[in-house]
Amino acid sequence: MPSYDKHYYDGAWQASTGAETIPVISSATEQEFARVPRGTAADVDAAVKAARRGFEPWSRVGVEARAQWLEKLAEAMKTRTPKIAESIAHEVGTALGYATKVQVEFPIMMIGMNAKFIREAKLQEELGNSIIYKEPIGVVGCITPWNYPLHQIVCKIAPALAAGCTVVLKPAEMAPLSAFFLAEAAHDIGLPKGVFNVVSGSGRVVGEAIVAHPDVDMISFTGSLQAGRRIASVAGDGIKKVCLELGGKSAFVVLDDAPFEKAIPAGVNNCMQNSGQTCSAWTRMLVPRARHDEAVEMAKAQLAKLTLGDPFDKNTRLGPLASAAQRDTVLDYIEKGKKEGATVVAGGGKPANLQKGFYVEPTIFANVDNKMTVAQDEIFGPVLSIIPYDSEEEAIAIANDSQYGLAGGVWAGTQERALEVAKQLRTGQVDVNGGRFNVLAPFGGYKKSGIGREIGPLAIEEFFQLKSIQR
Ligand code: NAD
Repeated sequence: MPSYDKHYYDGAWQASTGAETIPVISSATEQEFARVPRGTAADVDAAVKAARRGFEPWSRVGVEARAQWLEKLAEAMKTRTPKIAESIAHEVGTALGYATKVQVEFPIMMIGMNAKFIREAKLQEELGNSIIYKEPIGVVGCITPWNYPLHQIVCKIAPALAAGCTVVLKPAEMAPLSAFFLAEAAHDIGLPKGVFNVVSGSGRVVGEAIVAHPDVDMISFTGSLQAGRRIASVAGDGIKKVCLELGGKSAFVVLDDAPFEKAIPAGVNNCMQNSGQTCSAWTRMLVPRARHDEAVEMAKAQLAKLTLGDPFDKNTRLGPLASAAQRDTVLDYIEKGKKEGATVVAGGGKPANLQKGFYVEPTIFANVDNKMTVAQDEIFGPVLSIIPYDSEEEAIAIANDSQYGLAGGVWAGTQERALEVAKQLRTGQVDVNGGRFNVLAPFGGYKKSGIGREIGPLAIEEFFQLKSIQR
C-alpha cells in the first residue's frame, strides 16, 4: 500500500508544514501498512486559499462541463477499485467482497450519478415578479469518518462539486487513503486547480482549522454527536452553514403479523453489516413479547451464518473492528449490558480463535429494556439488542425513545400497516417489509442524528444559496 507525505491542493501535491505523520493500521494484522501527513492549520490555510481561488472559475464553468468532470473522475476511480477495496479492508476491517461492492463500486457509481443530477437540476425559477437563482454556496469544508471512508467522502464532494462549489476535505485519521486515491484520480484527469483539495490530520487541529477558517462558507460533516456539537458551535461563531450527519440507534419494529422467517434474518443482517460499524444499522430489534423467545432463536440461527474472520478470506462475512480503541469501547458496552441485566444469547466477548486483529464476537442481547445503556447509546459494533413490547403503540413509543432519529425498519403482515407505523417513527429513513436502499432517496437524521440530507438529487440542494432578483 502506498504511503503519502504530501497533501493535495491547488492542483498539486504539497509538502506538509508539519513534520509529523499518522500511521494507518490494518485492523486484521494490527500492523502499520501506510502513513499520511499530520497536517497543520497553515496547511489548511493554504488549501482554503487555493479552494477560494478555484471557486470563481469552477462556479462559472457551466453545468455540462462540471457533469463531464464528474464522469471523468468516476472513470479514473474505477480503474483503482481493487486498490481502494484492499485499503478499506485493512483500514476498517470490512470483508473484501463487501468492501469492493458497497465501499468502492457503489460510491464510484454515485460520483457519476451526480453528473446526471446536476444536468437535471432546476437552477432557475420564476415566482411572481422574481427570478430565483440557485447559486453554489462557495468553499465547502468536508470532514469525514472512517466507517465507509470513500462513501462518506463522495456523499459530500460529488454534490458539492456538481453544484459549483470547491472543497477542502479532511478524511478520518484511521481511514484516510480513499481521499488520497481521489486526489490522484483528480490529478490524473487534470481537474482544474483548487477544485478538490485534501489536507490530512487530526480533527482537533486540521478539522477545527477548516471549520473556523473565515474563507470556508459551509461545513459538511459526518461523524459522532460529540464532534458534531463542537463543529456546530465553532461554525455558529462564524455564521456558517453546517450539514451534520451524526450517529444513530435505529429501531426495527417487527409487528405480530410479520413473516418472522424473513424479517428476523433481515434485521440481523442489517444490524451486523460492516461488523455493526454503520450509522444507520438497526441495532434495536423490537418484537412482540409473546414471540420474543421465537425471535431470539431465529436471530441466533441467522447470526451463526455470518462467519467472523480475516477480511481477506472469501468466506468471511464479518471482519474485525477498525481499531483497538473501537474494539475496547464495544467490549465495555457488552460488559455494561451484562451488568444492567440484559441476557447474552450469542457472542459476548473476544473470539478465542482470532488472536490477532481487533475482533469482537457478534453479540445478541435478549430481553433488553429500552432504558438500558446498550439500547440508548450508539455502540458502533456488532451488538444487537432484542427488546420485547406489548402493543403496537408501545413499539412505536420505544422506537422513538432515543435521542437519535437516523433510520429504522418496520415489518408487518401488510404494506398498509407497515406504512402506518413507519410514518409515526421520528427518523429520516424507514424501510418497510424489506424495502431496499434507494440511491435517489435523501439520507439524514431527525433529532440528534443531524441536520441536512445527503445522497440523491436533493443532496445537491444543500450546496446552494438562493438569490431572488425582482423585476
Ligand atoms: P468522529 O466524530 O470521531 O470523527 C469524524 C471526523 O471528524 C474525523 O475526520 C475526525 O478527525 C473529525 N473531527 C473530530 N473532532 C473534530 C473537531 N472538533 N473539529 C473538526 N473535526 C473533528 O467520528 P468517527 O468515530 O470517525 O465515526 C463514527 C461516527 O460517525 C458514529 O457516531 C457514526 O454514527 C457517525 N456516522 C454517521 C453517518 C451518517 O450519515 N449519519 C455515517 C457514518 C458515520
